[in-house]
Amino acid sequence: MSILKIARMGHPVLRAKARPLHPSEIRTPKIQQLIDDMFATMKEYQGVGLAAPQVHESLRLFVAGFPPVRDERDERDMRDEDDEDDGEDVPLMALINPEIEPSTRELVEDWEGCLSIPDIRGRVPRASHITVRAYDRLGKKIEIQASGFTARVIQHETDHLDGVLFFDRMKSFQSLTFLDEFGRYWSGQRVRAE
Ligand SMILES: [Zn+2]
Repeated sequence: MSILKIARMGHPVLRAKARPLHPSEIRTPKIQQLIDDMFATMKEYQGVGLAAPQVHESLRLFVAGFPPVRDERDERDMRDEDDEDDGEDVPLMALINPEIEPSTRELVEDWEGCLSIPDIRGRVPRASHITVRAYDRLGKKIEIQASGFTARVIQHETDHLDGVLFFDRMKSFQSLTFLDEFGRYWSGQRVRAE
């Protein structure tokens, strides 16, 4: 497995609309290798999600999951103080050609980060409950109901497939915060990037 290079904000691949995968492509060694490498890359950089355009592949595919490593007690403890919706782990998933349908009009605002926008955090409104239809890495059609932090991560990653970054979704830039200051003044909130 390889650790892939992550595209940073300003790289055009992050603003392009990624192309869907044909179901017959999903099980090819090339795509399976890409998925494995994306999981490895997400783990290496301690992310909770990673979309293919972030590793310079303009394909409608992302991986997500938290915690990728289980030894971060401090962060777990902090997360437990969050509201109940957000206390959950994000299950490991690789989703291909995801389509999101909000199950509610309710938007919740919470902190997000992005591996393509290093060391910055900001508060982003997202649908609190969603239904996602996608293919899994075996090429099987799946449907997932998600809420809380999992729903947030899925929306963030799916945005990447349309060339949308979390800045674009913010109501204002007032909450934009560097990671150091985030830790100093807003600790108790999660700090992982997507
Ligand atoms: Zn991101």
